[in-house]
Amino acid sequence: MKDSCGRTIEYMRISITDRCNLRCQYCMPDGTDKVSMKDILTYEEILSLTRCAAQLGIRWIKITGGEPLVRKNCVFLIRELKKIPGIEKVTLTTNGILLPQYGRELWKAGLDGVNISLDTMDREDYIQLTGFDGLVQVLEGLEMMKSLVPVKINCVSIKERVEKQWKNLVDLCRTSQVDVRFIELMPIGLGRQFPSMDNQEILEQIKREYPQLKPDERRHGNGPAVYYHCHEWPGSVGFISAVHKKFCSGCNRIRLTARGRLKTCLCYDQGVDLLSMIRRGAEDEEIRKAMEKAVWEKPAAHCFDRPEEITEEDMMSGIGG
Ligand code: SAM
Ligand code: SF4
Repeated sequence: MKDSCGRTIEYMRISITDRCNLRCQYCMPDGTDKVSMKDILTYEEILSLTRCAAQLGIRWIKITGGEPLVRKNCVFLIRELKKIPGIEKVTLTTNGILLPQYGRELWKAGLDGVNISLDTMDREDYIQLTGFDGLVQVLEGLEMMKSLVPVKINCVSIKERVEKQWKNLVDLCRTSQVDVRFIELMPIGLGRQFPSMDNQEILEQIKREYPQLKPDERRHGNGPAVYYHCHEWPGSVGFISAVHKKFCSGCNRIRLTARGRLKTCLCYDQGVDLLSMIRRGAEDEEIRKAMEKAVWEKPAAHCFDRPEEITEEDMMSGIGG
């Protein structure tokens, strides 16, 4: 699919639940409003919408949430998504708590990769940030997944924490084949209330410690991360700098929320309500046309630098990151 700016849209993030087993301070410290399951896309509906999207050129799917692994039978969904003609890769983003339980089944179902969100390697700090004593489980899940699929660690760049923790996190890619990425906190939902760190500052601190760090030109995925690498490291360190280095001109993604909204930009509530369409019995042809129209109208760029223009009111947990 092309949008009116000439961008090719090939990547769809699908949030399968608003719920989560953690309470990250910058995301949902008090949980979420309970959305009834009847207002959430069923797996059959997700599969049907993904078939339409694949016919329009979507090739890569990322399953997200809330926490996707708290929804029953996520493994089934991944297995079925992998069967859809045109879908080349299905990956998952998770807080990792349930990976020890489901990781191997996910791999057997054909999962192509996993992103694990991990902002700290300190147990007390982890409890303080997420409200749950789960670091050991996450590290166990990470260890298991490393031997099965490509793994990326995502760390949100909240100033005080990342200054203390980047070294421990970078150690993960220095010692094993995982990529560690720093993600600038975006002013969506509670993200507005926390001081983000400019990724450039983190890069400079890492370079001071590891002067041999060089840009890594190898392809690591389909997203906007910029990577650096040292010759002897098994993994690389990446930066997703949505706030300080706008990458909208290369944006290739859309988002399907758990409540069935096809969202075309993080900042705006623009898009189309596919849940209503599918439940009133719209034919696939009509759904594909609605998708194409929404994509054509995809905003040219985000407006994180002009927060008064942000129209998205949903939390990050509702959007899926
Ligand atoms: N629960 C899963 C997880 O934590 O990976 C999937 C959903 S979570 C909303 C997806 C990603 O969004 C996580 O890496 C999280 O750290 C990130 N995130 C949450 N709020 C954010 C914000 N305001 N800016 C940037 N990233 C954010
Ligand atoms: Fe849950 Fe992910 Fe939000 Fe943390 S960032 S509360 S793990 S949805």
